[in-house]
Amino acid sequence: SPVLKIEDLHVSVDGKEIVRGLDLTVKGGEIHAIMGPNGTGKSTLAAALMGHPRYEVTGGRVTLDGEDILAMSVDERARAGLFLAMQYPAEVPGVSNANFLRTALNARLGEGNEIPVIKFHRMLQEKMKQLGIDPSFAERYLNEGFSGGEKKRNEILQLAMLNPRIAILDEIDSGLDIDALRIVADAVNAVRSPERGFLIITHYQRLLEYIVPDHVHVMMQGRIVKSGDRELARELERKGYDWLKQELGIVD
Ligand code: ADP
Ligand code: MG
Ligand code: MG
Repeated sequence: SPVLKIEDLHVSVDGKEIVRGLDLTVKGGEIHAIMGPNGTGKSTLAAALMGHPRYEVTGGRVTLDGEDILAMSVDERARAGLFLAMQYPAEVPGVSNANFLRTALNARLGEGNEIPVIKFHRMLQEKMKQLGIDPSFAERYLNEGFSGGEKKRNEILQLAMLNPRIAILDEIDSGLDIDALRIVADAVNAVRSPERGFLIITHYQRLLEYIVPDHVHVMMQGRIVKSGDRELARELERKGYDWLKQELGIVD
C-alpha cells in the first residue's frame, strides 16, 4: 500500500514563494481533501507534485514509498504511480481518446512492458463499461467538443486505466451541474481501493458529500492551517473562510 509523504514543502512560481512549508501524508485507502480560498496555492501544490517545470521546489521533501519523487522526471513520477486530474483538461484535436490512453498507459508501464493492442482494447472496454461511459467515447478526439461533465468523466477513465497509486484531483467538480457531479463522484468511488490514496482539491464542500473524505485540510497562504474530518468541510460551507482567518490570526 502506497505512502506519499510531503515534508516542509516550499514551491515558487516566477520567483514568488506560493507553497510555504506544507506537510501532508497520504496513504493507500485514504481520501484527503484540501480546501481553501482561491489563490492559496492548492493548484501550485498539485503541479509541483507532478513536476511541472514552471513550479520550482525550493525546499522540503516528497517521497512515495521512501523514493524521492522530486528527483524524478515527469514520466518517472507517472511510472511510480502519481496521477493528476485537472480543473481544465486539455483538448487534443486529432488524437483519439483510445490512442492517448494507450500512449499514457505504456508510459506508465515503462519500456519493455507495453500492453498488447488487443489486451488494451479489451481493458478499455471493460473500464468504460464499469464507469458507465459510452463505447463511442474511445474513438472521439481527446476532450474535443466534450461537455464539462464528459471531460471530467474522461479524466476518471484515465485514472481507472492508469491505475495510479496516488491520485490527485484538482477541482474536478468545477463547472459541473449536480447530475454531472454525481456521475464523476460515482466514478471516483468506483476506483477507490486500499492500494490507492487520493488527494482531492476542491473549493466547495459539495463534492465531499459524494466522495466522503477521511481527512479534510484547509490551506491558506501556502500552508495547511487546520485539519479535521468531513465536519470541518461542512463548517466551512456554512461559515465561509473568514472566521477561520480570524480564529488563526491570518491577515492577507
Ligand atoms: P489555488 O489553486 O489555491 O486557487 P494557485 O496555486 O492556482 O491557487 O495560485 C496561487 C498563487 O500562485 C496565485 O497568486 C497565482 O497567481 C500564482 N500562480 C500559480 N500558478 C501560476 C503560474 N503558472 N504563473 C503565474 N502565477 C501563478
Ligand atoms: Mg484557483
Ligand atoms: Mg486551483
